[in-house]
Amino acid sequence: MLFADIIGQEAVIRKLRDSVLAGRIPHAQLFLGMEGSGALPIALAYAQYVGCKNRSETDSCGVCPSCVKHQKFSHPDVRFSYPVIKKGKEEALATDFIREWMATLSENPYLSYLDWLAKMDAENKQGNIPVSECRAIMSALSLKPFESEYKILLLWLPEFLGNEGNVLLKIIEEPPQKTLFLLVAEQMDQILPTILSRTQLVRVPPIEGEDLRRALEQRFSLDAARAETLAYVSDGSYRRALELLGEVDEPLLQPFRNWLLMCFSGNKVAQNLWVAEAAGSGREEIKALLGYGLHILRMCLVFPELGEKARLGEAEQEFVSKLSRQFNPTSIEKAYKLFNDSMYQIERNGQAKLVLADLSNEMHKVFVQK
Ligand SMILES: [Zn+2]
Repeated sequence: MLFADIIGQEAVIRKLRDSVLAGRIPHAQLFLGMEGSGALPIALAYAQYVGCKNRSETDSCGVCPSCVKHQKFSHPDVRFSYPVIKKGKEEALATDFIREWMATLSENPYLSYLDWLAKMDAENKQGNIPVSECRAIMSALSLKPFESEYKILLLWLPEFLGNEGNVLLKIIEEPPQKTLFLLVAEQMDQILPTILSRTQLVRVPPIEGEDLRRALEQRFSLDAARAETLAYVSDGSYRRALELLGEVDEPLLQPFRNWLLMCFSGNKVAQNLWVAEAAGSGREEIKALLGYGLHILRMCLVFPELGEKARLGEAEQEFVSKLSRQFNPTSIEKAYKLFNDSMYQIERNGQAKLVLADLSNEMHKVFVQK
């Protein structure tokens, strides 16, 4: 990726570029930004810039042999690592999913964790970075670079490194010569503190509204007003904007709708079954579902005023339009608070089963009391 392909984020890019031009390349950096902000594309563009044989002061050349390989995500001196699902009962390595990974990056480097799970056909499986992967990383990094100055590890979502991740500490602390660690994360509080303390932090903020608007206008030939609304409701996430445009699937709409219908009906048997199943999925999945709920509730708030202008994806719009009629200003505030509190509890490791059962009961009350 070129820096020119990144949406906004000029300040972050300028800093990164300046450090390369000045020959001050930190050996371990953590790119931290929320989903859709572009932390991963920025790390990819940075890796390409470091390796470019003919870089300018602003960007990689895009045509030298190193750039060509980077652009195909197939540079032999770049080892990618990311959460993967098990193959059958066996732990898998990132390299087992490298085809899917390369295809995903070419399609949309602003991907979310759930997009990635879907790409691996994960169904109910959760992603993980197992200790076998950490060992594979170490052995890959012990080799000398094949053709570039640096060997690069680009590790996406170190949040998924369990305590096993500590086996990487030594190599991060005393890396083989000319090795760069680029970690790309979304949630700082989920990263092993030992890893955090050994990396230089590169904060990637949400994309500025104006930058996002311009990108949407240009990339999708939208009129200015529509681009502006989309940028506004996307909260600085290009991934979110793509979803609203129907460019990527909204995997959470169906499960969320089913859940709310169940709360609405107050069917206890169905609810218990659902809670047991949902609580068994990973914490990240639960957080994603709650986060999606918060987004839908926000949309229910603004929908009566914005109507068509909210420009949601078609299926989502239909759902929001129906759902918003089930609320009044008090009940929607109550629902929003319930979701927010549940998110807070899940983030602090509250028991998923209890939290989800409570939330379902309370949502039922909101619907009957409205
Ligand atoms: Zn180049």
